[in-house]
Amino acid sequence: MKIPVDNVRPNPQQPRKHFDAEYINGLAQSIKANGLQNPILVEDHGKENYILVSGECRLRAHKILGRKKIEATVRPPTNHAGKQRLIDAMIENVSRENMTTVDEGNGYRSMREVHKMSVTEISMTIGRTEQHVRSRLFITDLDLPIQELIALKMLPHDSQAVEALLSIPDPELRIEMARRFADRGLGIKMIVKHCEKFLNAKKEARKARMKYPAMEIARITAKPDGWDALYQVGRVPQWQKFTESVMETCDDCSLRPIACEATCRDCPLVSMCFRIMEKAK
Ligand code: SF4
Repeated sequence: MKIPVDNVRPNPQQPRKHFDAEYINGLAQSIKANGLQNPILVEDHGKENYILVSGECRLRAHKILGRKKIEATVRPPTNHAGKQRLIDAMIENVSRENMTTVDEGNGYRSMREVHKMSVTEISMTIGRTEQHVRSRLFITDLDLPIQELIALKMLPHDSQAVEALLSIPDPELRIEMARRFADRGLGIKMIVKHCEKFLNAKKEARKARMKYPAMEIARITAKPDGWDALYQVGRVPQWQKFTESVMETCDDCSLRPIACEATCRDCPLVSMCFRIMEKAK
């Protein structure tokens, strides 16, 4: 039957967020030349109101052509909080392979999180392997700006690349790195390599971090020979107490995590260490 285009509401469970304008324009020209080959599927919600189940591109093409009516298969409304509508939309989009991997992943995520379906159930319902479903779900663990880059095909959707990006613990940095990878058009291997390189450099920097900042900056490596004699005459503190209290002060210092020559250069503790070591020379 033919129904009014303006009375069809979009599917609130539509998993597809990315539509190719060029494809829809082409579809509009095809409909103009050959007519609509497959009617859209809608649910009847009374008083000539319909919710779209599948056929969003065909509906958009009709709007471009300025058509007032569209051929539709009308079915009674389903319940289950839109579960059936989501499943139908997923089956149609996945079988036609005309949705992005990101939209597909987010569709599976809704099926899992909103409708409590297991990966096995999703796989059997949609007709894709569990590994396929898991790999698409994996993409949705990424930050939204990175998902957008994948949807725009500026980054690969491969699990290896996704895993490499997720290994960067800081989200802001991860997004920044992903943008740079996209700008440079890097492939899977290079993305994995750059992420590994970054993590290794971070590990090295952590290893190189100062253990005892004030002592290291004042070049206090060992007890000077005459220290005990000076201690006996009250010119320097006891060696062990001195070194322990310097280390404890650094441990309680708010600058401790970023302690280095530049940060601690003007620290009074470092000056005091220098003065005391001068006395022991
Ligand atoms: S600034 Fe803090 S960490 Fe650095 S030497 Fe002084 S007390 Fe230690």
